[in-house]
Amino acid sequence: MTESQTHTPLPDLTIHQALAGLERGDLTAVELTQAVLARIQAVEDQIQAYLRVTAEQALAQAEEADRRRQQGERAPLLGIPLAIKDVLVTEGVETTCGSKILQGFIPPYTATAVARLEEAGAILLGKTNTDEFAMGSSTENSAYQTTRNPWDLERVPGGSSGGSAAAVAAGEALGALGTDTGGSVRQPAALCGVVGLKPSYGRVSRYGLVAYGSSLDQIGPITQDVRDAALLLNVIAGHDPLDGTSLPEPVPDYTAALTGEVKGLRIGLPEEYFVAGIQPEVEAAVRAAVAHLESLGAEVLPISLPNTDKALPVYYLIAPAEASANLARYDGIRFGYSAGAENLFDNYRLTRGQGFGPEVKRRIMLGTYALSAGYYDAYYLKAQQVRTLIREDFQRAFQQVDVIAAPTSPTTAFRIGEKIDDPLAMILTDIFTTSANLAGICAISVPCGFDSQGLPIGLQLLGPALGEEAILRVAHAYEQSTDWHKRRAQLPTSAS
Ligand code: GLN
Repeated sequence: MTESQTHTPLPDLTIHQALAGLERGDLTAVELTQAVLARIQAVEDQIQAYLRVTAEQALAQAEEADRRRQQGERAPLLGIPLAIKDVLVTEGVETTCGSKILQGFIPPYTATAVARLEEAGAILLGKTNTDEFAMGSSTENSAYQTTRNPWDLERVPGGSSGGSAAAVAAGEALGALGTDTGGSVRQPAALCGVVGLKPSYGRVSRYGLVAYGSSLDQIGPITQDVRDAALLLNVIAGHDPLDGTSLPEPVPDYTAALTGEVKGLRIGLPEEYFVAGIQPEVEAAVRAAVAHLESLGAEVLPISLPNTDKALPVYYLIAPAEASANLARYDGIRFGYSAGAENLFDNYRLTRGQGFGPEVKRRIMLGTYALSAGYYDAYYLKAQQVRTLIREDFQRAFQQVDVIAAPTSPTTAFRIGEKIDDPLAMILTDIFTTSANLAGICAISVPCGFDSQGLPIGLQLLGPALGEEAILRVAHAYEQSTDWHKRRAQLPTSAS
């Protein structure tokens, strides 16, 4: 039976299934895009994944994709409708970063990663909700709306790329881009039961990504399965002269790594990642996933990453420090919102006072404090030194093993409102994800089970810098020999 004969509703097709259907002529890009827009129409009231849907533009792009295909043109994502996190600038389409301070900002250019998707024939459906400036783990810090988890509407989708993850989980996009500064692609992917890949630092150009923590930020795909993640990475990865931190290394065909074979691969299990406070069902599912990989022929070795407990404090010094500098540009004059006060100082003060939400203000204050004269050495410099120790932990570990396995999030999706008034509790959700950003390595989250309430659990696989092929290979082999990724959330309406 071919993929299109399985009667999967069009919005629930994976990208590779849709590409096969388009190629065979079973469907057109216009039909596919219309079906996804209809799904958005049906469920968006309840899911709230998008800040804006660009339906007209999407249909025009779909018509163009069909025309190109008819003329015999081929491109890697020709006719595939995708969603973009609203921290990536898009020419002519309002980009707010989930913040009031950028309300009305229409960027004059498009981020490189997004432009590459468009060149590859993708169709852009719109911009997805995010925690303000990507600061948060639940998408509740958006100035505009709270996105809901498609698996349980009373729960958060994770964050900060919660809009993108919820959209993919609900069939409101075939795939999406998120960004990951300390876990924001992987954690929402885990909480929404989809795949999220954070590439190595420098693998994907950050040009046109509104900066949060410049030494940590990476753009990554959120998809239904691992093959789709590889397909998107193929397109967005690679050197960009417009981003001096993008790496010149050639981009392999990441789908070639999906051999289904893990025999002889060494998988490290870090003792420090199985700590008190982790939800027992999460730990059990991750341990079972590792045992499963062992049964497929991988060799599992205990390893130690002794500085793991320092990752959170180090991250929460470095990320706010960089953010405090990056956010200095929002002054009510150059971009978006302006309080319109009579003199310059009042305009700065009121614009920033009214335009930024509480979490962003907290981080600006923390970061400014950590960078101020007299405190710099004790906080920022010390954090950078410990960051080196964390990086060295991984370098040592990757001499012993090819890939490291761990949970993505210590818990499954929590309730809306549960942690929002307790910033420290929210921060603890990042305990397993920030290390990868501090070390600049790559990591992927792949579905590995459900808790007793039916909420998805994510397995995190970490690889060395530019080791995307290894983590994709292991994630794919795991996924293809399990059924977790095939389960779809029960949607809130009788959507087709
Ligand atoms: N939750 C982390 C934070 O709030 C990570 C966010 C992210 O990766 N963008 O900073």
